Amino acid sequence: MEKFAIHTHTNFCDGKNSILELIEDAKSRNIKELGFTSHAPLIHDQYWSMRYENINQYCDQIRYFQNIEKSLNISLGLEADYAPGLSYSFNHWRVLYDIDYIIGSVHMVKLSDSEFLFIDGSFEEFEKNVNSLLGGDVQALVKLYFGQINEMIINQKPDIVGHIDKVLMNSLKLLNFRNEMWYKKIVDETISILKKSDCIVEVNTRGIYKKKSDFLFPDDYMLSQCISFGIPLCIASDAHTVEEIDMEYSNCLEILKEMGLKKIKFIKDRMLLI
Ligand SMILES: [Zn+2]
Ligand SMILES: [Zn+2]
Repeated sequence: MEKFAIHTHTNFCDGKNSILELIEDAKSRNIKELGFTSHAPLIHDQYWSMRYENINQYCDQIRYFQNIEKSLNISLGLEADYAPGLSYSFNHWRVLYDIDYIIGSVHMVKLSDSEFLFIDGSFEEFEKNVNSLLGGDVQALVKLYFGQINEMIINQKPDIVGHIDKVLMNSLKLLNFRNEMWYKKIVDETISILKKSDCIVEVNTRGIYKKKSDFLFPDDYMLSQCISFGIPLCIASDAHTVEEIDMEYSNCLEILKEMGLKKIKFIKDRMLLI
């Protein structure tokens, strides 16, 4: 089975392996498309983001292997945050570094000009921040998160939207709202914005294999809405090590097939029929 690995982190950010190690490993797993997407530098460095002074080296190394490696297609990508005031515009990377594609993600929800809430860390830290910064109002956080996702899709035009509902990972431990009308309305609004965009939505398996979630990102409801409305999808493991490069790929593919999906899409209309 040919596979795509389009969301992979390297040791330029919080990934554990080098670009070369990931390439060698991908070749042994029948990966046809390998896209590197280290976390793009931020205006204020985070422990998980690439340092700005390293980006030229990151781009040069990937371009070098892209030219010499013939057994798989290599792409130069970034997972860029959308966090107004903390992140660079996506066009900054496109124009200055000629990036092949951008996965746009929200990891930090903007609460005010000076306050952001990190949604992707430990539950304990998350719970503490929701209580101290939002008085425990999970619904408010979910609304702000999707508002930021919507704004990113409209204004930044990512090629791919990363783990689009990752806010669920920690939020659902505080409030079980997945089947509530207010939540479905939020999802439906994002679907209608996606429908008018050219964005691909990634189906991210990381929550499952890290045992932080019982479902894929997007969850069942949002995934079925994406398929009903013809939003293009791709599968992504969001690997931070070589072992994770195709984790849960086959299971995810089976789920998508059963839901009626016919193809996995990647940039420039490269696709796999499933
Ligand atoms: Zn991410
Ligand atoms: Zn990632």
